[in-house]
Amino acid sequence: MITHLACSRCGAEHDARRLQSLCPCGGPLLARYDLLAAARRLRRDRLEDGRRDLWRWREVLPVEDGEEPLSLGEGGTPLTPSRAIGPALGLARLSFKDETRNPTGSFKARGLAVAVHRARALGARKLAIPTMGNAGVAASAYAELAGLPCIVAMPDGVPPAAAAAARAHGAQVELVPGTLGDAGAWIRQRALAEKAFDLSTLREPYRVEGKKTMGYELAEAFGWELPDVIVYPTGGGTGLVGMWKAFDEMEAMGWIGPTRPRMVAVQAEECAPIVRAFESGGASAEPVKDPRTEAAGLLVPAAIGDFLMLQILRASGGTAVAVGEAALRDGAARIARDEGIPAGLEAGAGVAALPALLTAGLVTPDDRVVCFVTGAAR
Ligand SMILES: *Cc1c(COP(=O)(O)O)cnc(C)c1O
Repeated sequence: MITHLACSRCGAEHDARRLQSLCPCGGPLLARYDLLAAARRLRRDRLEDGRRDLWRWREVLPVEDGEEPLSLGEGGTPLTPSRAIGPALGLARLSFKDETRNPTGSFKARGLAVAVHRARALGARKLAIPTMGNAGVAASAYAELAGLPCIVAMPDGVPPAAAAAARAHGAQVELVPGTLGDAGAWIRQRALAEKAFDLSTLREPYRVEGKKTMGYELAEAFGWELPDVIVYPTGGGTGLVGMWKAFDEMEAMGWIGPTRPRMVAVQAEECAPIVRAFESGGASAEPVKDPRTEAAGLLVPAAIGDFLMLQILRASGGTAVAVGEAALRDGAARIARDEGIPAGLEAGAGVAALPALLTAGLVTPDDRVVCFVTGAAR
């Protein structure tokens, strides 16, 4: 059961039963639970019965007793051993977490199912989100299911297919000149004016909660251990923050021990704020001036959770790697051709990072490595 929200920056506690955005200090808020009570009700050895979607973890999600979760069947995605890419690289235990299977074709469905569920439960009447595509499509789909209007702001350069998909779910789509940052600024003005609740990455507490279920699913798939390495194509970082949170929660519930995977953030060379900050030892990241990449989900020049990502990468003994456009395109094509997963370019970046990680000794041939196939090609 959720007990309160805590600021990830200053530690201040906030009411979880009111709609909340950032802490007054500017830090993202994270949900806290009564984990002892959750561990009594949610037994890891009794998970088999019931649902397959992410709401099977409802004791550690922001859903109250008696509430019916908002669901399109998100989560519960397959973890499949690599058929060809792993063997070709000499990685015996590489596997892919196939997030393309989610409703709307990307793992954004996880975060937005939970965030829209909670926003509606706490009284939101209208939603708003800035997006490079996938988050906007997912938000529109869940807003439609929830019966709430949704404003979606996309930079004018995003693929037209994403705008069309969001419109098909009834969203009001606005194309804003500039980058994701400009779309975010536009939304925050508009949200204020129209009393719409802002679902921007880490500016509300619950997208992280949806994304953290990837961590629960991995632990279950590995028999209540964790893999050695997680390779994560990184934009706003909700998945990194969410999975790390899930590991801590599972340890507190006595489900896993203290060992953590090395977390590896992969970004595109011309939009790699987290990689640059990791390399320079910074506690936060410098915004990228002229960000470029075809991998839309990675086109995040400044992330509000930068300091959290950097803490996690360092605490885990992981790293951050940038890959070029040709390499990530080739990576995506290989996942599609050799593994049969219709991967988007973002996932291609993860595969493209593997050779350098092996060369640097950051990944060894025996490691259990999980590459996230974060979304499908559009
Ligand atoms: C949003 C997105 C990412 C980045 O995810 P974060 O958790 O925000 O870092 C990666 N891949 C795809 C396909 C995405 O849509």
